[in-house]
Amino acid sequence: MGMLLSDALAVQRLPERQKKLARSGRKVYLGHETRTGWSGYLPFYLFQCPNCLRLAKDYPHSYPENQYLACPECGAKVSFVRFWIRVNEFFSFIRFLFRLRLRFTK
Ligand SMILES: [Zn+2]
Repeated sequence: MGMLLSDALAVQRLPERQKKLARSGRKVYLGHETRTGWSGYLPFYLFQCPNCLRLAKDYPHSYPENQYLACPECGAKVSFVRFWIRVNEFFSFIRFLFRLRLRFTK
């Protein structure tokens, strides 16, 4: 493993303001980027790895319901499920409870 040298340099050169935000636990959007072999662009985020505490840069992996960022240094995964997916889940759960209640009152 190990972060791409270009990514490591990019992280070093980021403004202190963005690094501070990442150290406070935020995932800081850095912009969309592409890599050799990719057909499109993906959003990259700066975050602090909860395991090795290094600042890392990565893009969300996997499907929207269980996306994560991975630390390129130690491989630790950081959950990255977007807010609207959580909202959707919440309302599906409410609908589920409602249907359950209808069944019991019949
Ligand atoms: Zn790490």
